[in-house]
Amino acid sequence: MNPLSRARALFCWLVLFFLGAVWIARQEYVDLYDRFFQSTSVAQRMLSQKTVQHEAVLATLAALSHPPTPERLYPSLQPAMPQLLGLGYLPDGAWTGSLAEPPGLPAALERARQLGRAVTLPLDAARYWLVAPSSWSLLLDARQLVPAADFPPGLANLTLMVNQTPLTLLDKQPSDAFGLTMALQKPLGAASQPFQMRSTRTLTPAYWPWTAWLAWAIASALLVAGAAAWQRSRAEARRQQEQVRLAAMARLSTLGEMAAGIAHELNQPLTAILAHTRAAERLLDDEDERPAVRHALLASAEQAKRAADIISRMRALVQPSSPARREALDPDALVASLRFLREPDLTRQGIRLSWHNASPGARPLGDRVALEQILHNLVQNAADALATADGPRRIALEGRSVGDNYVFSVSDTGPGIAADALPQLFAPFYTTRAQGMGLGLALCETLAGSMDGRIAARNLSPAGACFTVSLPRSGATA
Ligand code: ADP
Repeated sequence: MNPLSRARALFCWLVLFFLGAVWIARQEYVDLYDRFFQSTSVAQRMLSQKTVQHEAVLATLAALSHPPTPERLYPSLQPAMPQLLGLGYLPDGAWTGSLAEPPGLPAALERARQLGRAVTLPLDAARYWLVAPSSWSLLLDARQLVPAADFPPGLANLTLMVNQTPLTLLDKQPSDAFGLTMALQKPLGAASQPFQMRSTRTLTPAYWPWTAWLAWAIASALLVAGAAAWQRSRAEARRQQEQVRLAAMARLSTLGEMAAGIAHELNQPLTAILAHTRAAERLLDDEDERPAVRHALLASAEQAKRAADIISRMRALVQPSSPARREALDPDALVASLRFLREPDLTRQGIRLSWHNASPGARPLGDRVALEQILHNLVQNAADALATADGPRRIALEGRSVGDNYVFSVSDTGPGIAADALPQLFAPFYTTRAQGMGLGLALCETLAGSMDGRIAARNLSPAGACFTVSLPRSGATA
């Protein structure tokens, strides 16, 4: 995977993980809040039951026609009601009780009678008197209503507003604990003691769904990695398909190139055959022209042989298994055959062809037909270049030994090669001629290469172009 797509995969994973993590956290929170809500409701019911019980005790005392004295009553009630600290009676302004009369009792009694129900007379944050219209009063300790251990485990902090300051019933968490705090506030159910109960619980990091998050991190990473691998394999499959398509196209274009090359190469001998046959036909009826007819037919046969050779060479070229033939060639004989074929044409165009062998006896190693083809092409190109040239029209063929090689050069007095054309001269289909196909030099290079030779081009001073074909020399040390 390249760095960009790796970064993209990482980004996708982060987004996926974040969304999943938020969903998990929300589910977990809903679940914990549900339990917290239930526990708070249970606590509120437990406290409410106790306060309602106080009302029931007061109602029972009011219903007694000859109630025992508070001092005698208290010890019998206290074991069942640990929150009961004392009780008393104020029938007609005279207080009888297990404890001293609390300040403000008459006013509280007055209020109770007006309301027709018991009222509270707080002593401090935890203790309060519950004063009934019947003149009976109970002193209660809110801390003792429910033992801390009896509260449901889902609770953390619980307070009760008996007086102005909250009374702590449960304190399992420090108030400044780090995390998300859930809070619920409810009044107790007894009409006479509707104290506000407040329950809070902080979801500290210890309660966060780390395991689920870790599992999701792994699962989402696997998911993204799987998706990335799937994408990669699809891209790979597409690339392979594309390669197959390109290879097919390359085969087709090579085929087209070959076909064009064959047509280009065969055009020369076929044109020559046609010209020679027509000349022979014209001279046929004239007895004196017999030698000329024979020459024309011989030249035709020679060209037909060349065409056949070209075809067999082409076949050899497309079958790389068949190695190019190597034989020691006679440059003079080769050029003589070339001159025999080309000179009449060139003379007609006013072009003089010269040959100079600077190393007589030296033999280039190669394939005769391939070399002939190269020289034919180079001479034809030189003639084409000279067609538009003013001044003397000359093509100079030369051969000489250079080191372990034998080098042919074909020079002309034409306009030379344009500077921008030089680097691409041997590329297939490169041409500056309206009728050109740009295959001649590409083919020459392939043919030279098949003989371990090299072909090069340069410009001459003051004018003209020079092409050299260098081939291994027979008898050289290499
Ligand atoms: P074609 O002859 O079909 O154009 P070639 O591959 O034989 O294809 O030649 C490619 C190009 O090289 C020619 O179009 C021409 O521009 C340039 N060229 C070849 N020979 C010569 C030369 N002797 N003088 C100048 N330019 C040449």
